[in-house]
Amino acid sequence: MSSCLFCSIAAGTIPSDQVFSDDSFVAFRDIDPKAPTHILVIPRRHVPGLDHLESADVELVGRLLVTAAGIAASEGLTERGYRFVINCGEDGGQTVGHLHLHILGGRSLAWPPG
Ligand code: AMP
Ligand code: ZN
Repeated sequence: MSSCLFCSIAAGTIPSDQVFSDDSFVAFRDIDPKAPTHILVIPRRHVPGLDHLESADVELVGRLLVTAAGIAASEGLTERGYRFVINCGEDGGQTVGHLHLHILGGRSLAWPPG
C-alpha cells in the first residue's frame, strides 16, 4: 500500500534507523522511544493488524516472534529481560495500520500497562 507509512519504511522510500532486514521483515528504531531500547518489527507484507490475521499467517507470526527475539538478543536485552507489545485497534492504542511488534527494553517496565 503506497499510502502506508510502514510500507514506505519497508520499501526505503521513507528513511528509518534500521536495525534488521530480511526477505520477510524489517526492524527499525521507534521515532518516539518509550524505553532506552524501542524497536518496531514489521512484516514487509501489508497486514493492517492482529485483527486481520488468518490461519495462513501462522508461520509469518511465528517467524515474527523468533525474529524479534533474535533482535532483542542482539541488542543485549536477554540478560535483564524485555517486553513485546502488539497494539490492536483504538482501545489497544494502535496508531499505525500496519502490523508491528514493539520491542521494549533497557529499563524496568511497569505492569499492568496504563
Ligand atoms: P502503535 O501506537 O502501536 O500503532 O505504534 C506506532 C509506533 O510507530 C509509535 O510508537 C510511533 O512512535 C512509531 N512511529 C511513528 N512514525 C514513525 C516513523 N516514521 N519512524 C519510526 N517510528 C515511527
Ligand atoms: Zn503497510
